[in-house]
Amino acid sequence: MLHADEAAALQASIERVGARVTAALQANPGVVYAIEFVGNLHRGIDQTMAQAALRGEPVACQAGCASCCSLRVEVAPAEALLIAQHLHSESADRLQQRLQALRQQQSLLAQGGTVRPPCAFLQDALCSIYPWRPASCRKAHSFSATACQSAAAQLPQDLAITMAAEALQRGTALGYRQRGLDGVVQELSAAVLQALEDDAAASRWYAAAID
Ligand code: SF4
Repeated sequence: MLHADEAAALQASIERVGARVTAALQANPGVVYAIEFVGNLHRGIDQTMAQAALRGEPVACQAGCASCCSLRVEVAPAEALLIAQHLHSESADRLQQRLQALRQQQSLLAQGGTVRPPCAFLQDALCSIYPWRPASCRKAHSFSATACQSAAAQLPQDLAITMAAEALQRGTALGYRQRGLDGVVQELSAAVLQALEDDAAASRWYAAAID
């Protein structure tokens, strides 16, 4: 729970980011730019994590630790479209494997159950879409791998990282919304599967943009 002054500072940061995002999208019309622009959000979160490490706050997260890759991940439409765009550039065989993994994931999620299946993009304990993974994955961090492995209700995290990432993520969503573009988040595998199966997904998403 944030204090009133922290909540006000967060809201001000969200609005600052939102205004910058709206201005950039307005100055650079077009669906290609609008999709690729979400990469700025990803770079911003990566920088936030790198700055925290420089402050002497190394997180416990490292390659091969995938405890958080069995949690629900949500993505914005631009993020799902960006991932789909990169998957489309893979070989036809690889794309078929991706589609199969995503459909299987959807089927497992539809069956319910108490244990959530690992992310469809997790392969050999590594993220197979690491350069394009969404903001939700980039901002996830913990100072205790043990706490993650035991699925502790509260993970030891850095409030400054969380606040900075939140401002970037919510501010970017606001900026897209102010341009008329849908920013409603969706479950990762469902959103990417939809973007891969529907060739018109990107153009339909961008059709709502305000001129
Ligand atoms: S997209 Fe990558 S980092 Fe995110 S949950 Fe899936 S495998 Fe893990």
